[in-house]
Amino acid sequence: MTQTIPGPRVGSEDPLLICSPLRIEARAVRRGFRGARGARGVWGGGEPPQERGVTGGRPPVEVLRTGYGPARAAKQAEQMSHRSFGQLMVMGVGGGLTTDLSVGDLVVGTEVGDVTCASAPLLVGELRRAGLSARAGRITTVDHLVRGRERTKLAAEGWLCADMESAPLAAGAGGRPVAVIRAVSDTPHRPLTGIVSGGLAALRSLRAAAPVAERWAAACGAHQVLLAGPRSFCAGVERAIEIVERALERHGEPVYVRKQIVHNTRVVGDLTSRGAVFVDELDQVPDGATVVFSAHGVSPMVREDAARRGLAVIDATCPLVAKVHAEARRFAADGYTLALIGHAGHEEVEGTLGEAPGSTVLLQTAQDVATFRPRDAERVAYLMQTTLSVDEAAEVSGALRERFPAVRAPGSDDICYATTNRQAAVRAIAAESDVVLVAGSTNSSNSVRLVETCERGGTPAHLIDGAEDIQLDWLAGASVIGLTAGASAPPAVVDEIISALSGLGPLSVSERITTTESIRFGLPKEVRH
Ligand code: SF4
Repeated sequence: MTQTIPGPRVGSEDPLLICSPLRIEARAVRRGFRGARGARGVWGGGEPPQERGVTGGRPPVEVLRTGYGPARAAKQAEQMSHRSFGQLMVMGVGGGLTTDLSVGDLVVGTEVGDVTCASAPLLVGELRRAGLSARAGRITTVDHLVRGRERTKLAAEGWLCADMESAPLAAGAGGRPVAVIRAVSDTPHRPLTGIVSGGLAALRSLRAAAPVAERWAAACGAHQVLLAGPRSFCAGVERAIEIVERALERHGEPVYVRKQIVHNTRVVGDLTSRGAVFVDELDQVPDGATVVFSAHGVSPMVREDAARRGLAVIDATCPLVAKVHAEARRFAADGYTLALIGHAGHEEVEGTLGEAPGSTVLLQTAQDVATFRPRDAERVAYLMQTTLSVDEAAEVSGALRERFPAVRAPGSDDICYATTNRQAAVRAIAAESDVVLVAGSTNSSNSVRLVETCERGGTPAHLIDGAEDIQLDWLAGASVIGLTAGASAPPAVVDEIISALSGLGPLSVSERITTTESIRFGLPKEVRH
């Protein structure tokens, strides 16, 4: 399946055209480029010296002073249709409309008048990594300075920033990639008292943002996105999230959740906003309250503690993790020494270790096998964390089999279907990709394993929580971008990433499905309707 998103057209040899309405704004932007590139770095766009000394693979840049107000901006936009440029960026100062903005903050336009600037999240992330305070939001263009109540009215309509030129200038992009960055010179708390009152901070921010504009232009171009299938939520994660949602419906807020319900920042943030309270340990839960155990499972000690405290427990442990716990109990009861292959400190591993602490040894690498001393070499069994790399776990279990030929394996694979399927799917797209983006949080074991799977195959891969984490340098020169998501990452994040990439140029999206999944797990009785 290939879908083509009609993105902006791109002429890679053409310069990045930066439109700055006022002379002082254009000067700040040029200085920002000169600081980054040296004195011959920028084409002056009508102001001497007119130089175009751009080398070293970076896009040529032209900074054009377009004049004050919407009428001049519209005239310039019309003239731009005769110019040759590859991307358009509007950079200037603007009026902040909401009370949470400060002078010097940067607003990156998501919608500017009627123009959608889809790559705004990429710019916001890059500006923040450059140490600047940046927000994405809607920018409106008006024909007068906005003051007093009008600010409040525009903010209520959903605008973040107002200026007098961006909308007509952005419309002049003529289908090329377009972005708008406005540095806040005044806010409701600090209104305008002169043309550059508060403007010095804004101009400093504009200057500092200039090198980011250059990186954005270098990342622009036609891209192909290869989607791995399957990706994103697994059955255990969907079940765990549904359990918290239903607990909130039944009991109202707060519903306490021990540890992150699944390892994903977005999921945890969303549930927190709806009334879930995430705690590290049970002593943070009031007596008699309802507490949900996370998908990663808990040790029997935690269950006993909850029972002693009289807490109402709803267990969201994934049934495939619960299966590993049951195996641990069975092997330990039969007198086996258990080798648990997994990563130290992971919540799932801590829970499984707790089932038979006196009989279980954690092995993290094949090297650990050499120092493993079971009670009886004839009675050794191994288990695995469900989210391991299939290849790495096979190395450890292979070393165990070599050293202990009678070693017992789990009845069925402990690495779960979702982990195995997502690794196979990402391997398939990584082979064809210049770079792979993996949506997932840094504490998500299965997401980290997806990055490692790509890297082991020689393809650079990056773990991102969302589009703002994408570094523009990763995309420069990359024409095929692989995209997947760990089992705990919401599908909406993948859509957001595709949307942001579509702002860089024409984008085609194809999916490589290596297998389909239909597994669903039932809900615990406490939340079944
Ligand atoms: S990754 Fe596997 S073990 Fe973990 S919640 Fe999903 S299905 Fe269950």
